[in-house]
Amino acid sequence: MPKQSPIADDLDRPFWEAANNDRLVVQNCSSCNRLQHPPQPTCQECGSAANLGWREMSGRGTIYSYGVVYDTPVAVMQPDQPYNLAVIQLEEAPEINMYSHLPGSPVDDVTIGSKVEVVFEVTAGNGQKVPEWRVVG
Ligand SMILES: [Zn+2]
Repeated sequence: MPKQSPIADDLDRPFWEAANNDRLVVQNCSSCNRLQHPPQPTCQECGSAANLGWREMSGRGTIYSYGVVYDTPVAVMQPDQPYNLAVIQLEEAPEINMYSHLPGSPVDDVTIGSKVEVVFEVTAGNGQKVPEWRVVG
């Protein structure tokens, strides 16, 4: 499925650079020992900017919920309608959600609670890789 290419900025550049190396990283506050995503300028718990770093995730997660998109406003994705749109919980931090089209899973053939693993797909616009999630097992 063709997707829009994200353009990294100063805040999220480490996330996108890691994705280009097939690694999933999430912001981590070393003061609170707390993960947060999407990236923020400061820790949402203690307000610290100095203690924010990045931590590599296992790439494992669980499908929390999903829907099927029949009428997207995103022109580049309209030829692939309908398609899955799932909410993924990270294994290390279930409060962190990422979205996925579940490549390899037929439309509407999705089981909530299924284990998934991250894969990285190249986007056509600028070659930036983006995280996607595949059902495992
Ligand atoms: Zn903090």
